[in-house]
Amino acid sequence: MKRRIVLLGPPGSGKGTVAQRLEKEFHLDHLSTGQWFRKEIAAGTELGKQVTADVERGDLVPDEVVLGLMERWLSPQLLERGFMLDGFPRTRAQAEALDKFCAEKKAPLEVVLYMSCPEDLIIERITGRRVCLSCGKNYHVRALPPHSPGRCDLCGSALVQRPDDTVEVVKNRLEFYRKITEPLVDYYRNAGKLVSLNGALGSEAAFKAAAQVLAS
Ligand SMILES: [Zn+2]
Repeated sequence: MKRRIVLLGPPGSGKGTVAQRLEKEFHLDHLSTGQWFRKEIAAGTELGKQVTADVERGDLVPDEVVLGLMERWLSPQLLERGFMLDGFPRTRAQAEALDKFCAEKKAPLEVVLYMSCPEDLIIERITGRRVCLSCGKNYHVRALPPHSPGRCDLCGSALVQRPDDTVEVVKNRLEFYRKITEPLVDYYRNAGKLVSLNGALGSEAAFKAAAQVLAS
């Protein structure tokens, strides 16, 4: 069984849903940098303050900050027990540092799961999301529409689109992803660790394919 895993893929590829199911199925810790950042911010550490400033300015959190967190969070126990990294590494420098760190601990990465997905499908998926702010229920204008347009089935409140789910924001995020993170696909392919999953087929099919890879 594979235990040290990196998840790669653009926003909206369904990576998060697949990760949640793999976490349950294989008892692997699902680690995301978002979660690392929130814990540091909540604890009020110096790192947390720097991360807050970067995020507020819309900047990429610098490699050395992220790598500091990596060394703190990837404990010997975790390296032994197994983990899925999501949102990290994000740059080539981070990927190289992670490889070096894992090699020193004699716990190399075993597989990189890459969820591919065409951009027009990603945009359709994300921009179609609607949410009820009163009860939190999620909808999608095409895939999961409410019974009456714009109204929550459960509580009748008006449905809204999150500011991050607009076409403009999604296109910016995809452009950033293409430039900064997509080169990691080649990096891991060259290392012989990449397994591609077709995110366009939906999360159920992607989960099944991923589960087979991890079990082998
Ligand atoms: Zn509601």
